[in-house]
Amino acid sequence: MEICVIGAGYVGLVTAVCVAEFGHNVRCLDIDEERVQALNDGRVPFYEPGLEELMRKNAAKGRFDFTTDIKVAVSGAEIIYIAVGTPMNPDDGSVNLEYVESAARDIARFLSPGAIVVDKSTVPVGTARKVKKILVEAGAPENVQVVSNPEFLREGSAVKDFMEPDRVVIGADEAETAEIVKTIYAPLVDAGYEFLITSPEAAELIKYASNAFLAVKLTFINEIALLVDKVGVDVLDVARGIGLDRRIGAKYLHPGPGYGGSCLPKDTNGLLHIARDFDSRLRLVETAVAVNNSLRDVLVERVEKALGGLDGKRICLLGLAFKADTDDIRESPAIALARFFIDRGARVIAYDPGAMNSARRELADSVEYA
Ligand code: NAD
Repeated sequence: MEICVIGAGYVGLVTAVCVAEFGHNVRCLDIDEERVQALNDGRVPFYEPGLEELMRKNAAKGRFDFTTDIKVAVSGAEIIYIAVGTPMNPDDGSVNLEYVESAARDIARFLSPGAIVVDKSTVPVGTARKVKKILVEAGAPENVQVVSNPEFLREGSAVKDFMEPDRVVIGADEAETAEIVKTIYAPLVDAGYEFLITSPEAAELIKYASNAFLAVKLTFINEIALLVDKVGVDVLDVARGIGLDRRIGAKYLHPGPGYGGSCLPKDTNGLLHIARDFDSRLRLVETAVAVNNSLRDVLVERVEKALGGLDGKRICLLGLAFKADTDDIRESPAIALARFFIDRGARVIAYDPGAMNSARRELADSVEYA
């Protein structure tokens, strides 16, 4: 198939490279010229294990290229993925859809009859319909189909997650459209991976509900960790003991300074907004967000107590990304902690095997890098 991917970030680039690996011809567009230049030179501008090798392999087969030219990217494409960012609005925690809406306006005029637009970005309930309206108003054919196909990959194991998914969710109004989108993933269908066909709204909600569940699970073990410390036992023993129960599972039971990253904080807040839009409340998720926000203070208080104050103290920070195997520092608790320690007069020496450059852009020389 002829496929276009709008946005060459973690999700867009992994999608582009992996569907090329499935045998499709892919054009990937980004508005960031520097990024497109790097990609055309065969360099992935962020750290993601295995991605650069797979990209080079498929580029050598002539299966894809990168462009900043919207007409070149979209013309003739049967499937157009939208995989741009949907950041959190800092004032109220709601979802900022400006990049998705602008991508929809950009592609509309160049869509071929019968083309299918696929939302890969994490977007609130009702966005597929909203995107369709924007497309038609901006000149797309009336019968353009918009499908929701949320992405569940994790940074650090993104290629593997895309190639070996727990499930692929396709939300479409027409069964026939869902089937066309499913054929993109033919090797996964053949290998027996689970496909779930739903309405666009259900697909959109599945993504937020999944991330909110993970955030609640992480928050649960983080609160248990506070209790366990008072009891005086090892939280890792307790986490392992809980996780061995197959009904619960061991994943997302690692205690830490609160969840961070580009997804869980924004998606939990996004879901709370979605609930409000539907005159509803999710008190469990509200509590998880509040508990998570309080965890850094707990950690700082402990360090302060252990060191007898922070002023003039030398603190080593091991790890700056929001988790291992990524250079992504978006909403990283480590960055927040570094800032807090510095504000209280401490000297921070930091190390991360992959995220030093991203951290330098954020913290400049306020910390020493080892
Ligand atoms: P990202 O910030 O890494 O990449 C977004 C890219 O889109 C950037 O390169 C940006 O330049 C480009 N862009 C913005 N507006 C554009 C436009 N109009 N046209 C073309 N390109 C444009 O974001 P990401 O982490 O890949 O996330 C993308 C979406 O996927 C978000 O909705 C996110 O919630 C979701 N998601 C992310 C992850 C993850 O682990 N990062 C996992 C699952 C889902």
